Formats: sequence, C-alpha cells, structure tokens
Amino acid sequence: MYDLIIIGGGPAGAAAGIYAARKKLKTLMIAADFGGQALASGNIENWIGVEKMTGLEFAKMLEKHVRAQESIEIKISEKVVTVEKISDGFDIVTDKNNNYQAKVLIIASGGHRRRLDVPGGAQFEGKGVSYCATCDAPVFKNKRVAVIGGGNAGLETAIDLMPYAEKIYLINRKNFFTGDDALREKIKRFSKISAIMNADVQKISGEKFVSGIEYLDGGDNLVKKLEVEGVFVEIGSVPNSEFVKHLVETNPKGEVIVNHKTGAASCPGVFAAGDVTDAIYKQNNVSAGDAIKAVLSAHNYLLNIKI
Ligand SMILES: Cc1cc2nc3c(=O)[nH]c(=O)nc-3n(C[C@H](O)[C@H](O)[C@H](O)COP(=O)(O)OP(=O)(O)OC[C@H]3O[C@@H](n4cnc5c(N)ncnc54)[C@H](O)[C@@H]3O)c2cc1C
Repeated sequence: MYDLIIIGGGPAGAAAGIYAARKKLKTLMIAADFGGQALASGNIENWIGVEKMTGLEFAKMLEKHVRAQESIEIKISEKVVTVEKISDGFDIVTDKNNNYQAKVLIIASGGHRRRLDVPGGAQFEGKGVSYCATCDAPVFKNKRVAVIGGGNAGLETAIDLMPYAEKIYLINRKNFFTGDDALREKIKRFSKISAIMNADVQKISGEKFVSGIEYLDGGDNLVKKLEVEGVFVEIGSVPNSEFVKHLVETNPKGEVIVNHKTGAASCPGVFAAGDVTDAIYKQNNVSAGDAIKAVLSAHNYLLNIKI
C-alpha cells in the first residue's frame, strides 16, 4: 500500500512528485508518458525562471527532476484504466493488468486534443490531418496548410508552421481570436499567415491524402472551398477523466471539480490538479502550482489534519 499514487507525468504530476518526496510520502507515479502536453508544445516562453525552451526540453527537465527523488517509484508507458474505492484507500488497475493500492490519489491526467468531428476528420488523421505541429510540421514543407482554431494553441501552431509551410490559413469560428495578445500581435507580422474568420469547417476532402477543406462562411452563409494539403486541428482540449468519473464529481465538460483552496475532489482522499480539473486557466505554471497545493493537502489528509 502506497501513501500516494500520482496519475500523470505532465507538469502537474511532476510537481506533485517532487513535493511528495519532500514530504517523504511513499509514492508511486503512473503515467502514459513523461511530459504530457509539453511533448506537443513548440517553444515554451512562460515557464517561470526559463526564458525559452522547447516542449521536449521541458519534458526532459521535469523527468530528470522527478527521477532524482529517491522515494518515488515510477511506472511510465502504463495507463490507469479503473480506480475503485477500498476500505483503507483506493485500488487501481492499469492497462498492463497491474494492481496498485494507495491511501490517497492525485489525479493529474491532463487532457487531450478535441477531435474535429466532420466528414473526413477521422479518415484523414495521419494522412494530412494532424493534432501536433511540433511532431508533424516538417512533413508540410512548402505545402499549403490550414490551422483550425483561434486560441493560444491555434496561434502557436500557425507560428510553429512558419519555417515549413508555403501558406498558412488560420481558420477561426469566431470573429476574433481568443489567444493571448502577444500571440495575436506576433501572427500579424507574418504575411504567410492569412486569417479566415467566422468560418465553420464542414468537411475535409481528398483521396488518399487531404487535398482541401470546405467551410461555411458566416459572413455570406456560403460554403467555400480551400485547397490545402495539411490540416492542423486546435479546437480545444478534453479532460482525461473517464477512469474517475464514477468516483468524483465532474462538470458537464468532464473536468474533475475540485476545491480550489485545497485541490480536494468530492471523494475524500482524492485530489486533482492541472488540466483535468475545472481550473479556468490551463497553463504549465498553474498546473504545477495547483499540484503542489494538492500534495500539501493530501499530506495533511494523511495526518488527519483538518484544513
Ligand atoms: C500545443 C500546446 C502548446 C502549449 N503551450 C503552452 C505554453 O507555451 N505555456 C503554458 O503554460 N502552457 C502551454 N500549453 C498548456 C499546457 O501544456 C497544459 O496546461 C499542461 O500540459 C497541463 O499539465 P497537466 O500536467 O495537467 O496535464 P498534461 O500535460 O496533459 O499531462 C497529463 C499526463 O497524464 C498522463 N495520463 C493521461 N491519462 C492517463 C491515464 N489514464 N493513466 C496514466 N497516465 C495518464 C499523460 O500521459 C501525461 O503524462 C500548451 C498546450 C498545447 C497543447
């Protein structure tokens, strides 16, 4: 029986691990990968204390720091499938059919990219449709691409494609970008990037590979075609909470509802942090900070200290 099991190896999971070690908790970390969404991030320029690094560098930095903690056992490339309450804690089953038990849990399982649910969206995934510019941008050298989504991830994706693509169409359903001011200013500097606002993508077409998209132009209500060989989809994130939904309260988006003072979820002994929660701001620093809060609360819970 562990004191604590942390589910997730992104910034939230890593921060939880480092603080659990400082509290000398007998800890197991289970994560499908080390780094989480950092693995798909381009440059990270807002991690406090580091001016600029790639997502991969960030992931490696987190892994090195966690692996330096002696009191943590780590299981990577293993996915939690179910979590059940038992008399003195929780029982976890993973996709490797392993069972692990702990007195308290920290859910730091983050989120994954929302899939584009239009004809051709699933069919062309990996054949022109991508959810990771960091991974796939070089494949689109000298090609015309569309980026769907006008939040931070969409704007960053368009910037990540700059050294490769011949032309980048930034397709946005709203008539304004919801991404940060700094990113909005930055994309204006690139003539290669053209914004198409008020556009609702209806279809991705092609034969073996993507050859174009169709979108409904909200201005004149006409369906228009755009010839592109690549489509990068950045339309938001879905929380990885399926395996705990029966145990803790979630909101309609599927995010784990937590007490934002403590990180406690609705089931005693379960804490959560990062993008899997109903925290408003989905950011690396926020995820790490919230995870630290959750570990300190978990530690108090184990000591029966009321908070
Ligand atoms: C393209 C992109 C660029 C971004 N750029 C920035 C940026 O520049 N600055 C910034 O602050 N934020 C950025 N973000 C947001 C930031 O990445 C997230 O806020 C952050 O990753 C959340 O951390 P997390 O630890 O909560 O979740 P995640 O990073 O999603 O990590 C979740 C972890 O849980 C694991 N996991 C999931 N399900 C299971 C399971 N069932 N069993 C075991 N393990 C599981 C995953 O493998 C992973 O290790 C960006 C996001 C994207 C997509």
